[in-house]
Amino acid sequence: MFYLLKYFIQMKILFRNNDLNEALLGISNVGFVPTMGSLHKGHISLIKKSLYYCNKTVVSIFVNPKQFNNKDDYKKYPRNIKKDIKILKKLKVNYVFIPNKNQIYNSKNRIKVYLPKKDKILCAKHRKGHFEGVIDVMIRLTEKVKPSKIFMGEKDFQQLLLVKRYIEKKFKSKIVSCKTIRDKNKLALSSRNSLLNKDDLFKAGKIAKDLILFKKRISKKNFSKKKILNKKKELEKKYIINIEYLEMRDKRNLQISYKVNNSKMFIAYYLNKIRLIDNF
Ligand code: AMP
Repeated sequence: MFYLLKYFIQMKILFRNNDLNEALLGISNVGFVPTMGSLHKGHISLIKKSLYYCNKTVVSIFVNPKQFNNKDDYKKYPRNIKKDIKILKKLKVNYVFIPNKNQIYNSKNRIKVYLPKKDKILCAKHRKGHFEGVIDVMIRLTEKVKPSKIFMGEKDFQQLLLVKRYIEKKFKSKIVSCKTIRDKNKLALSSRNSLLNKDDLFKAGKIAKDLILFKKRISKKNFSKKKILNKKKELEKKYIINIEYLEMRDKRNLQISYKVNNSKMFIAYYLNKIRLIDNF
C-alpha cells in the first residue's frame, strides 16, 4: 500500500524560495543534489544515492553565472530543462528546484569567499574566481534547502574538497562523495561532452584510457616530476590537444605528490575549444 502511494506522489517543480521553504517545512533527512542540468548518468548516480539514503530528495538545476570566468562559456553551456524534468520524474525525485538568478542572489546576506593562496592550484589557478563562485552558490543553496546530506561527484574532485571544507564548517550538512561514472570508452560523463563531435568524443575516451594505463604502470614505484612532464608532452603531441595541467596530487590535501599511494592524477585540457577535466 505504502509503495503504491509513493508511486503516485508527483514530483514537485519549485521555482521560488518561498515554495521551497513551504515544501520542506518539517521534513528531516533531506538529501540534496545540486546540478547545472543537462543531466546524464553521472548526475543520476548521485540522485539514486540520495533517494536511497534520504527521506526526500531535492535536485537543483541552476547554471550559476558567478562560477563562469568566461561569458562565452556560460552562454554555450548546454541547457536541456525539458529532458531533465522527464529524467527526474522517472527517477521519482521529490522536488526539483529551478531558481532564476534573482531567487539565488536576492539575499541580503552578502557572502564573500576568499580562497587562500595555497588553494590556488589546478582549476583555481586557471579559472580565476571559479571556486569562489561555486562556494558562494553552495552556501546560498544550502541555506535554502538545509539538507542533511549533499551528494557530489569525484569527477570534480577539487570542487568536492573545497565545498566540503566550507560547507561542513558552516552548516550541519554532510557532503557525500560519489564515484565518477564513465562511458564504455572510459570517458567521464559530463554535460560538456554534448558540445563535442563524434571524433573528439572518441579522442577524449582514448586520452582517459591512456592516463588510466599510465597511472597503473607507475603505481608500482615512486616517480619523478620529469615523468609527468614527458607524459604531458606526449599526450599533447599524440592527440593534438592543449593541456592546462597534468599533475599528481595527494587526494587528502591536494599537495603535489611523487607517491602513487593516496594520490590522484589531475588533468584539464582543451579539445576543440571545449575544456575537459578528469582525475584518475
Ligand atoms: P554539474 O551539473 O556539472 O555542476 O554537476 C553536478 C554534480 O554532478 C557535481 O557534484 C558533479 O561532480 C557531479 N558529476 C558530474 N559528472 C559526474 C560523473 N561523470 N560522475 C559522477 N558525478 C558527476
